[in-house]
Formats: sequence, structure tokens, C-alpha cells
Amino acid sequence: MKDHYDVIVVGAGPAGSIAAKTAAMKGLSVLMIEKRQEIGDPVRCAEGVSKVWLRKHIEPDHRWICADVKGSRIFSPDGTMIEMAEEIAGGEVGYVLERKIFDRALAYESAKAGAEVMVKTRATGLLTENGFVRGVRLMHLGEEKEVRSRLVIGADGVESKVGRWAGIDTSIKPADLETCAQFLMSGTGIDQDYCYFYLGNEIAPCGYIWIFPKGEDLANVGIGILGNKSGKKHAVDYLKDFVGQKFPDAKILEIDVGGVPVSGSIERTIANGLMLVGDAARQSDPITGGGIINAMEAGKIAGEVAYEAISRNDVSTSMLELYEKRWRQTIGMEIDNSLIVKDAFISFTDKEINSLAHSLEGVNFSSMSLIDLLYALFKANKKLLWDLRVLF
Ligand code: FAD
Repeated sequence: MKDHYDVIVVGAGPAGSIAAKTAAMKGLSVLMIEKRQEIGDPVRCAEGVSKVWLRKHIEPDHRWICADVKGSRIFSPDGTMIEMAEEIAGGEVGYVLERKIFDRALAYESAKAGAEVMVKTRATGLLTENGFVRGVRLMHLGEEKEVRSRLVIGADGVESKVGRWAGIDTSIKPADLETCAQFLMSGTGIDQDYCYFYLGNEIAPCGYIWIFPKGEDLANVGIGILGNKSGKKHAVDYLKDFVGQKFPDAKILEIDVGGVPVSGSIERTIANGLMLVGDAARQSDPITGGGIINAMEAGKIAGEVAYEAISRNDVSTSMLELYEKRWRQTIGMEIDNSLIVKDAFISFTDKEINSLAHSLEGVNFSSMSLIDLLYALFKANKKLLWDLRVLF
């Protein structure tokens, strides 16, 4: 480890690794630090991604793809099923990843591009000077060190502290955090070609249950519910009820718990000498909770802007505004639209969800994403269409 780098990236998730790779490929000296001893482990993710978007960042590799999904089956509370299949959509769907291997592969790409990667290295604070972030205070194997940089990229995930240290408000209310629990299960007997979604306030208040195939007879079975709905009964209790009824003989091999920010865009993701990316910048999708692709997109933009800023010797917020503008014009627009849909969706009773599902029976979908399905749901209902008119 040197004493000074152009860029220090805190966190080696998808956002951090893509940011580090992009900046290193441009010729910047980059240090990426990760507090865990193994990148990608433990997993806190259902591991589903869109194929098309993933390919923008990395060539698919069978070593980290567990399932190649052909469609989705979505169930309303009364059991009405809506199926979206590849043949209907005429396009590609998604992969279910093995993130323990995927995240490491992304970090490897950044190392190959020239970034220095250090695991078991935790950022404990920021170095600041004249109102600018100038580096990171870190702890590596019990030893404290200060490392200076021209820019810091905060990619430290949902529990991010980097933003707060830089004076950015990243606080999340319980109502804006999806609390999740997930079991890796064997013996569910699901069709490995499909992802399954179960809706309904009885089983998952203001959220949903998912089942994503993981190859052979494995599946990620998980739940996300809004934090303010988690009273005496927690997400994991709802999930236990669901699997107890649906898969009484299946076995639980792993348990993951975690949170997904569903607050929509925060006001500011930059400070002098600093950019926030991925979950740290609350860039996950408010309705699906998906954040891998957005994290990678934001990481790429941040890596590019880091290069432009350092080349012009200007890392002030007026220069880094470029990052703010670019991500808001791309993934930010999707996030804002999703937030509008989510806010409408969480007000539905189970009866209303059932009636929307009935109104969709026989509809052919032209696209495969959950969000398109939800748009179709809303289009089939005049009142909803009016409530959500800004989206269409
Ligand atoms: P992370 O992947 O969280 O990476 C942040 C990294 O920073 C971590 O490795 C962490 O150890 C490190 N770090 C934190 N603090 C420090 C520090 N002080 N110093 C050094 N390192 C630090 N998204 C999808 O797209 N599809 C899904 O199917 C999906 N399912 C999900 C299911 C669950 C249960 C949960 C909780 C989330 C799910 N997500 C899903 C969301 C997705 O996991 C995140 O959006 C994504 O991982 C964000 O990437 P990131 O790089 O911003 O953060």
C-alpha cells in the first residue's frame, strides 16, 4: 500500500469494483479497500439480474451463473398467476448469480485493470482539509493508517458511513427500508426456468416473497417487507410461515438477512473530493429492491467522472456535479418512476391486488421486467392510471 493514490474506493461490491476498474483503466492510481476477508461473502442478495444490462459491464461466465431464467410467474393473494415467459416477450430475461464468485470476479477485473485491492481493510474515517475530502483513515490487520487521495468513492453499501462522514444525509426511515430475509433451500421442487413472486399483505406486508432458482434443486427463497411493517412479526417469521406451508420437506442450507433502501433518490451524492455510489447512494430500485445493475452503472459513471475531475485538477462539487447529473439522467429517472409506482402499490389491499391480477389475465407482455408488469397492471385500471399519469 502506498501513502497516496488518485482515487480510494471504499467497498468492493459491484459499485466499488466497477468504479475502481473504470478509473484504473483510464490510468489513475486506485486503491480499493474491503472490510471483509472474502469479497462477496456473506451474501445478502437474491442474486437476480437482467442479462442485457449485465452484459454492458461484464461478459457472462458460467462460473458465476447458477440459473438462466426464461420467465417469471407472479401470484396474487388469491393464487391468480400471471406468467411472463421469454417466448411471449421475444427477448432475453435474466440470470441468477453466485455472488460469492461474481463479486470476486468483478474485483479481479479491477485488479487486472491496475487497481490495488486490499481485503480485511476497513475505512474508519475520512481525512479532510479545507472542506475537501483528502483520503481515508483505515484499519488493516489491527494497524491504523492514513492514506491520502485526490478523490474518495464511497461504495460501502446499505450501511454506508462514508456519506455521513462527508456530511451527506443518507439517513433512511424504517418506512424507506425493505427489511429482507432469505433462505437458500434445497428440495423446493420449483421449475428452475422461472422466478416466482408472491404478493399479498398477509404473507408479505408492503413487499413480496421471491423464489429464484439456483441450479440443481436449489433456490433462494426470500422476503422483503417495509421496515415500518416489521412489528412483533419480523420478515424472517413471515418467511418461515411461507416455507413451512409451501415447502414442508425442503431443507434450509443458508440464512441471510439484510436491508434494501427503497427511499428513491437522495438529495446529494457528492461532496468536495467525494462521490457516493450504489447502495451507499441509495440507488437501488424502490419497487423491486434490485440494486446490482444500478450499482454497476453508477460505479462506471463515477470512475469516468473521477478521471475527468483529476485530469482537470478540480475535485470540487461544481466539477463532480457531472456525476450527479449523469446518474440522475439515467438510472435516477428509473428510480424516480419506480418510487411513484411503489408508493401506489403499498396502499393496495389484497382484494385490490386480486382484482388487478384478474384484469391482467390473458394480457401479452411485450417486455419481461417486473416494472413493466406493474405498469401493465396500472394501465388496466383506470383509477390507477390517473394516479400514475406522470409515468405514461
Ligand atoms: P454492496 O454489495 O453492499 O457492497 C458494499 C461493500 O462495502 C461490502 O462488501 C462491504 O463489506 C464493504 N464495506 C462496508 N463498509 C466498509 C468500510 N468501512 N470499509 C471497507 N469496506 C466496507 N439486487 C439485485 O439486483 N437483485 C437481487 O436479486 C437482489 N436481491 C437482494 C436480496 C436481499 C435480501 C438484499 C438485502 C439485497 C438484494 N439486492 C438485490 C440488492 C443488492 O444486493 C445491492 O443493491 C447491491 O449489492 C449493491 O451493491 P453495492 O456495491 O452498492 O454494495
